[in-house]
Amino acid sequence: MKRAGMVAAMVMVAAVAGIFRAGAGWAQSNGEGGKQGVERLYVLDCGQGHAADQSRWSPGVNVGKPIDISVSCYLIRHAQGYFLWDTGITDEVAAMPNGWLPGNDAANGIHWTRRKTLAAQLKEIGVAPSDIRSIGISHAHPDHIGNIEMFPRTTVLIQKAEFDDYFAPGHAPVQTPSAATATFSKDHPATLIQEDLDVFGDGSVVIFYTPGHTPGHDSLLVHLPKTGWVILSGDAVHMQGNWDNRRIPYFFRLSSEAKMQTLTSMQRIADLMSFYKAQLWILHDKAQTDRQRHAPEYYE
Ligand SMILES: [Zn+2]
Repeated sequence: MKRAGMVAAMVMVAAVAGIFRAGAGWAQSNGEGGKQGVERLYVLDCGQGHAADQSRWSPGVNVGKPIDISVSCYLIRHAQGYFLWDTGITDEVAAMPNGWLPGNDAANGIHWTRRKTLAAQLKEIGVAPSDIRSIGISHAHPDHIGNIEMFPRTTVLIQKAEFDDYFAPGHAPVQTPSAATATFSKDHPATLIQEDLDVFGDGSVVIFYTPGHTPGHDSLLVHLPKTGWVILSGDAVHMQGNWDNRRIPYFFRLSSEAKMQTLTSMQRIADLMSFYKAQLWILHDKAQTDRQRHAPEYYE
């Protein structure tokens, strides 16, 4: 048992060391290695969803029960500039009185609404779209990439596997409320990540690879000066109950490989939480989101 424990600890350290190594080149390439640390994190309201049957996320559990979910985006003010994590449901939905139900399929779809636009929330805290230095994308689903083209000159950091999957020939285009809605253009400035990326080169904002929900899904590790370490789940975890029970969402439509990846990614999150004593913030868990401070308030 002792030996096994030591091996596990060594693997853990190697994984963490890998994260920091990945960042060194980035710090050199951006030429701003001197300024370090996250100053603030804003939780932004990036939409709401309603589903008639929550068991899509918890197969076999709570079958036929409706559920409301939150959609959060996160704006991080780092000493080197602003970084946005996910962009939510398109702002266009805020102007739709009945919200947006893709395919008008109330039984199987998610009915999206938006109380406030992302644009209005950024304006309220005095941040212009052009102030945002980079955008990290957990994955290329409509409730996460809906507003990328609001930031036409901001570099998107996305896992190469996700980018390749999203733009693969034959991949169904992401649905939008209207043809006029911009989603994610292939011409958008982008940096393709392979595995992990230390965004500012100081270990305070680290994108880490958590595939399963999609082929190139990422989560985010953030260090806040007063709050401590926080992991932003992306859709590697959808609800607290799924996390507690290690449920695999969309079980019946995922490939065997994706199911394995989903479990491996949850374990990776658990290892990082344990190592850093990190909190797990689950962007679709409405109960948790309702308890959080939202912009213009912020976490330090
Ligand atoms: Zn999602």
